[in-house]
Amino acid sequence: MLDGTTATIKPREALRINPAKTCQPIGAMYAALGLHGCMPHSHGSQGCCAYHRSHLTRHFKEPVVATSSSFTEGASVFGGLANMTQALNNIFTIYNPEVVAVHTTCLSEVIGDDIPMMIKKATEEGIIPNGKVVIHANTPSFVGSHVTGFANMVTAMVKYLSESTGLTQTQKEANRRLNIIPGFIDPSDMRELKRIAEGMGVGFILFPDTSGVLDLPQDGHYRMFPGGGATVEQIKAAGDSLATLALGHFTSRPAAEELDEKCGVPAALLDLPIGLTNTDRFIHALRNYGGVDVPATLGEERGRLLDAMSDLHQYFHGKRVAVSGDPDHVIALTQFLVDLDMQPAFVITGSMGNHFETRIREILAEQVPDAVVEQNTDLFALHQWIKNKPVDVIIGNTYSKYISRVENIPFVRFGFPTLDRMGHRYFPSVGYMGALRLMEKINDALLDKHERECADEYFELVH
Ligand code: SF4
Repeated sequence: MLDGTTATIKPREALRINPAKTCQPIGAMYAALGLHGCMPHSHGSQGCCAYHRSHLTRHFKEPVVATSSSFTEGASVFGGLANMTQALNNIFTIYNPEVVAVHTTCLSEVIGDDIPMMIKKATEEGIIPNGKVVIHANTPSFVGSHVTGFANMVTAMVKYLSESTGLTQTQKEANRRLNIIPGFIDPSDMRELKRIAEGMGVGFILFPDTSGVLDLPQDGHYRMFPGGGATVEQIKAAGDSLATLALGHFTSRPAAEELDEKCGVPAALLDLPIGLTNTDRFIHALRNYGGVDVPATLGEERGRLLDAMSDLHQYFHGKRVAVSGDPDHVIALTQFLVDLDMQPAFVITGSMGNHFETRIREILAEQVPDAVVEQNTDLFALHQWIKNKPVDVIIGNTYSKYISRVENIPFVRFGFPTLDRMGHRYFPSVGYMGALRLMEKINDALLDKHERECADEYFELVH
């Protein structure tokens, strides 16, 4: 298919090929794993759940636990109440989690199962033990993407759990505690956000938090519920925080707005802190809302990033880039590429949302006004555009590697899913340190190709 991709572009309306997104429950399952002691539960057939677990496992290289309502033909006809009741009974009896986070699949959505009613009934029948919690999010995959599913589950956390105890503004200002909703980023990124906030002395609640859940050290013991994750108590208390920093319009804004509406916690909406400008904005927000100073160590990290940007400018300047992936990732990365004086020529996401095109066009308005920017598109379209106007480097998730191979274009893996490399498990992409790593990867990819193919007289020992 990839070798056969032609440069001739024909109009397509109802067909997506390599869509650069996956289904809603995958995002919901990942968000649920960021709750301490949580069992994600897939209300549908086993096949969906097995696919979602394995997709996450392949990205995080960790066993991903989740249970299923195990629909068969009977549930498809009569509804999934009996399956859900049996499932909750089994889950609490056998695995004893603190929380069960239910998400739906296409099948249970088409049937129209009423999940709140099922949870209420299970509570009344004593199936949910005292002190345990069941939350739910509707995640029909025939709309939205894994990005929507993530946002829906984080919003469900707020809807079910967050509470305002009626603290006055003065009391909140005295506490100066912030909520940080991190978006769909890796555990290494969440760990880095916490390191930055802790280093600045800001009090915060980060949720969901998959660090300490999906990046465990090897100690010879398996734990179904590792020590990490935001606790129910923390998410309850988020309703009393001074403000929420929502990182990512698509993944974090809905939960932040829900928190504002439900508990009166105002939200600051920021792009993901990837690259220089966006990390500056994140740190500025932490400083402003947290009422703290920026420590010298963070200033030094920033200075090292600036130094590297100036050293590597000769390699990055004017290079044409094709970027694809999740909208929040792509928005933040595009800003960083502009910071690096590169030319994001093709910028796409498979997810839907007009904000994507609006925000990217704002970022590129001066530097690349003629960039091709599209939401709800696919890698097939991107490949055709590249055939017509080649780029110097492709940045995207693992699925972009086929285009890179066929067109012999350097490729930098970035975002979800990364199924064939390991670095994202250990090294963050956010913050100044993450920006340094991204720069190193882009520069290595460009120079590797140059050195493989250049004439002998241009094959330099030193760069
Ligand atoms: S698209 Fe729907 S049916 Fe397919 S795996 Fe996802 S939830 Fe299941």
